[in-house]
Amino acid sequence: MLTPRQRIILRQIVSPPYIYRWAGLLTTVGLIVGVAVVVLADTRTSAVLATSAGPAVASPSGIRARTAEDAPARGMPGVARPAITSTRLTVTSTTTERPTVALTFDDGPNNVYTPQVLDLLAQYRAPATFCMVGNQAAAHTEMVHRVAAEGHRLCDHTMTHDATVGYHETDLMGRQLDFSRTSLATVFDPPAPIDYFRAPEGAWTPILDEMSARTGMRPLGWSVDTLDWTQPGVDAIVNSVKQSVHPGAIILFHDGGGPREQTVEAVRQLLPWLQEQGYAFTFPN
Ligand SMILES: [Zn+2]
Repeated sequence: MLTPRQRIILRQIVSPPYIYRWAGLLTTVGLIVGVAVVVLADTRTSAVLATSAGPAVASPSGIRARTAEDAPARGMPGVARPAITSTRLTVTSTTTERPTVALTFDDGPNNVYTPQVLDLLAQYRAPATFCMVGNQAAAHTEMVHRVAAEGHRLCDHTMTHDATVGYHETDLMGRQLDFSRTSLATVFDPPAPIDYFRAPEGAWTPILDEMSARTGMRPLGWSVDTLDWTQPGVDAIVNSVKQSVHPGAIILFHDGGGPREQTVEAVRQLLPWLQEQGYAFTFPN
């Protein structure tokens, strides 16, 4: 049997005085808030790291290694590309009556493939738009310079090719766009205007549209996807254009982000073919 003193202690444990109940409740609430703060801070830090500029992101060869999450997001059959609004598809009409196409090259600049693409474009006097990744541009400023010097236009494609950029908080989103835009613009003195912004993998959100427009960049989509980044073979890339091209088309190629020999060869075949079909090359409006 319990002594009276033991009974008192037991009663206090089972039914503690109010002061202890409050202390217990406050401790529990404190612990929950503490855990929440740590989790949120960690998420924010990851986001900051994901969007900050850093030489570590670019590989020594200058070829951007796609992150593990890039490929499945692009290639997954169940994931539909977001709808592209008509404003992103308008192409500047030329003074001639010829139908026009706009050639666009993403994920560069790359010191192997970009020069080859530029040589071909020069051969056919074809202007194009290059959607560059900021880290790549910073690693190959001479390429950025050559692209602009040869009459092509520059397009911001985020600092790190972050396909989730449209879902970040606005300050982080702004940083991805601004760092990249600055890395392109400041290759020139005075800084060059950057005309377009293209969301990596076409992952647009309304706020991303709005933010790129606010910084003076036109959201740039595409209407012919060559899927060249999947390396489907030169014929498949060429045929995708031959079957889908139309007056006012914006054609999506990649001059960086992986091996692009197929793209270069396809462009070599497509430039004369497009000319034969009567197309003139122009910039997206
Ligand atoms: Zn891209």
